[in-house]
Amino acid sequence: MEIIFLGTSAGLPTKERNTQSTVLSLEPFLSEFWLFDAGEAVQHQILHTRIKLGKLRRIFITHMHGDHIFGLPGLLSSRSFQGGENKPLTLYGPAGIREFIETTLKLSESRLNYPLEVVEVEDGDIYIEDEITINIHLLAHGIPSYGYRLEFPSSPGRLLQEKLQAEGIMPGPIYRDFKMQDTVEYEGMIYHTQDYRADEVPGKIVTFFGDTMPNRNEDLLAVNADVIVHESTYLEGDHLLSHQYHHSHIADVIGLAERNQVKLTLINHVSNRYHQLDVAELEEAIRLANPDFNFKIAHDFMTVSID
Ligand SMILES: [Zn+2]
Ligand SMILES: [Zn+2]
Repeated sequence: MEIIFLGTSAGLPTKERNTQSTVLSLEPFLSEFWLFDAGEAVQHQILHTRIKLGKLRRIFITHMHGDHIFGLPGLLSSRSFQGGENKPLTLYGPAGIREFIETTLKLSESRLNYPLEVVEVEDGDIYIEDEITINIHLLAHGIPSYGYRLEFPSSPGRLLQEKLQAEGIMPGPIYRDFKMQDTVEYEGMIYHTQDYRADEVPGKIVTFFGDTMPNRNEDLLAVNADVIVHESTYLEGDHLLSHQYHHSHIADVIGLAERNQVKLTLINHVSNRYHQLDVAELEEAIRLANPDFNFKIAHDFMTVSID
């Protein structure tokens, strides 16, 4: 799977960074893209990637601030003409997202040629889609802002071919039975197939946070995650100032990741006060001061593999 950043700026776009949007490409697990937030011009950003709107199956909106939703009406409309015809789309978001969409589509006389399901989410909601469990928790941002934690199913361990061959069971259709069945009968013997498979591979856990200052629900979303995508509007300077604006400081994000044994932290929603060169310097300084913190500061079109 891959995470593709389409917009990484906080609040306002800059020449280097568009407003917030992040894509999860689910290949090879599913031939779909899921989008998290839809900042203005998200559809223009998509034109620079291999993302197909027809394969955009779910959109998750974290909160109703403009830098996260102003690209939504245009994206939904264009999807009708860019491969989305008759292909259902589900949109998740806070209370108000339905009214926002219905109003903008109605007043602009836009019609969609595919079924759109709108789901207004609440703290503690859990959805299971295509075997992926989606846990949703409220954050702390002045207005309702949510995080979406995706838990992928575990997959069976690989077949221990060397062990099978050592016992005289040579490759052939029988190997499929050893993969799929609990027991196999072969030349008069009963085999318990679990003994011939490596341990199950746990499914990935990937969490997309909305804008937030530190709060207790963050731990529910981050615990043991393989990857979290989290804002750090402030990469340096006054820690408490960031909380006045209901945002996170890099020190908050480092604490969250360390407390919860997060394997990789991807940082977005970077204040427009920083330019690309400042960010590179700050990233280096953060790395030197926190050698155990595995992180990247995202930039637009950064792609991160999470397999
Ligand atoms: Zn924002
Ligand atoms: Zn916000």
